[in-house]
Amino acid sequence: MNISHIEHIGIAVTSLEEAIPFYENMLGFKCYAIEEVADQKVKTAFFKVGQTKIELLEATAPESAIAKFIEKNGGRGGIQHVAFAVSDGVGGAIEDVQANGCRVIDEKPRRGAEGLNIAFLHPKSTCGALIELCEKPE
Ligand code: ZN
Repeated sequence: MNISHIEHIGIAVTSLEEAIPFYENMLGFKCYAIEEVADQKVKTAFFKVGQTKIELLEATAPESAIAKFIEKNGGRGGIQHVAFAVSDGVGGAIEDVQANGCRVIDEKPRRGAEGLNIAFLHPKSTCGALIELCEKPE
């Protein structure tokens, strides 16, 4: 597995409507994309900060991982995951981490926001942090 950089940091929010103006004001530039990812039951908003993005995530259903995160966090949002960009294939990266004894949530890459191939590692195997691996498809 070859990790090139932190692709994005995922921040769970209770309301994109409130969070977007806050981040736009704080960062001094506009959110460049809003996208609903039905598969993950989330609505996302993206900001580009250099090579890395901030991904704000709002749950669209109570069973969404974001809704569960907010519930566990006392009803507040917070940093939910860190996504590393891999440059040599998410499928191979999943095999590599599994070979090192790391449990994964996704055994195969799936399609995430912005058309990226993504896979989540299991927090039980990553010292508690939710880690996403992602790559732009060819
Ligand atoms: Zn993400």
